Amino acid sequence: MTSPPAPARTIAARTTDLTKIYGKDDAEVRALAGVSVDIHDGEFTAVMGPSGSGKSTLMHCMAALDTPSSGTVHIGDVELSTLKDKALTELRRDQVGFVFQSFNLVPTLTAEENIALPLSIAGRKPDAAWFDTVIDTVGLRDRLGHRPHEMSGGQQQRVACARALVSRPSIIFADEPTGNLDSVASAEVLSFLRRSVSEFGQTVVMVTHDPIAASYTDRVIFLADGLVVDQMRSPSVDSVLEHMTALQARAMEA
Ligand code: ADP
Ligand code: MG
Repeated sequence: MTSPPAPARTIAARTTDLTKIYGKDDAEVRALAGVSVDIHDGEFTAVMGPSGSGKSTLMHCMAALDTPSSGTVHIGDVELSTLKDKALTELRRDQVGFVFQSFNLVPTLTAEENIALPLSIAGRKPDAAWFDTVIDTVGLRDRLGHRPHEMSGGQQQRVACARALVSRPSIIFADEPTGNLDSVASAEVLSFLRRSVSEFGQTVVMVTHDPIAASYTDRVIFLADGLVVDQMRSPSVDSVLEHMTALQARAMEA
């Protein structure tokens, strides 16, 4: 008896032998040293690793916010280096969502205007039913008229998540989205990201230092010194901590 084949996974994003070098000569820093990774469609993936291991650089290169020194990035079937400026701008706008640790909302706009901003820039109107679903899922119905300074950090980050989700991008990158939040607000943001994957089929990649945040995801990729050094599926808080401890021990021996 042969076991049935594993279901084919669609690739939402892929890097092949990605390197990124900042600076020159004595000041040269190799932020990515050859990263090949597949991000599966409809999954919530965490990227973990020590400070300076290249997590943000990897997110920025995958989201077309920065260009690699060598190697390739695909979003879906499209290899980013083949795109001219206009096509790249459109891909960034239509296919990619980004959530930053520092929220990055426009201070003069209300929550509702911030959420609709990427669509208005693209000259599109949000699908009304979908906009409602997103607002209710993030629990912002009674905050729509508030400006960022009238909201807590957790509320602002939920606005930022809603802004990323409302255009239905192929993939959302979140770089330490709970890094500035307390544990209650973090849990709200993480639950929302989890639901966007489980209920709406969104693909999300999230950088985090926190084993609790990682336990919300389907898969964890561990980086060290600009390389993928480990990965695991179906993480729990304990299993993530075990992997982190083992990786630290390995780094001490090296
Ligand atoms: P992480 O997000 O895992 O903390 P980063 O991707 O931010 O790591 O950084 C990886 C390495 O690249 C670090 O050594 C960092 O100092 C360096 N680096 C990142 N961005 C730049 C930059 N714009 N110029 C020079 N060095 C940078
Ligand atoms: Mg970082």
